[in-house]
Amino acid sequence: MISLTQVSKIYAEGRPNQVTALSGIDLTIARDAVTVLRGPSGSGKTTLLSLVACMARPTAGRVTLDGETVSGLPERFLTELRRTTFGFVFQRFNLIRGLSVLENVMLPAAPLGAPHAQVRARALERLAALDLADKAGTKVEHLSGGETQRAAIARALINDAPVLIADEPTANLDTALTERFLEIVAALRAEGRTVVMTSHDPRIWGAEGVDAVVELVDGRIAGEYA
Ligand code: ADP
Ligand code: MG
Repeated sequence: MISLTQVSKIYAEGRPNQVTALSGIDLTIARDAVTVLRGPSGSGKTTLLSLVACMARPTAGRVTLDGETVSGLPERFLTELRRTTFGFVFQRFNLIRGLSVLENVMLPAAPLGAPHAQVRARALERLAALDLADKAGTKVEHLSGGETQRAAIARALINDAPVLIADEPTANLDTALTERFLEIVAALRAEGRTVVMTSHDPRIWGAEGVDAVVELVDGRIAGEYA
């Protein structure tokens, strides 16, 4: 369970370009559930997701993970926490150019020290599930937008992290691949994993298997429904 109490996030605080991205956020994200953060562009979805995933610190307020306050932890603890707790699909994907799809997908597993053959088999399995098996050897810069997105999803799944974090994961996917992604999400949930994602795609927040939708407007929670 991830909880935020009276959280705010201000960018460029004290400067003329100061932006209050979030304010007064009280939110509990359940374990073993699929939560979608929705709202218009600029409403604070990515910022909220980054706080939930311990990638950024709130300007004020508290973030707790299973009852432990994480918002004040030193960076080295946060790095370790991120590695063991979260799998990420970033909006800009952050795949490494010059490396193949397979190498990119295997990369997050390296610091955890699992046997190479085992990681490779798991990576190929994830790629096959996302219809990318035939692109395993392709350098990521040669992929289409949708393929890049699927490679990023496969990479996020490689460590079997308990919490999958995804920022607009289906933005470049057609309906069939969006459904495939939702099937993967449903399978993760059935395994007892937690999924938190942002989306302004009605196919996502209307989907069966989504347990909670949190609606953001101007950096505030405007509604929560199941
Ligand atoms: P969303 O994901 O819903 O589009 P964001 O969380 O990306 O919203 O952004 C919320 C607000 O914070 C926007 O006004 C955006 O311009 C601003 N913002 C986001 N990231 C930064 C940043 N690193 N520096 C300054 N302003 C930012
Ligand atoms: Mg965003």
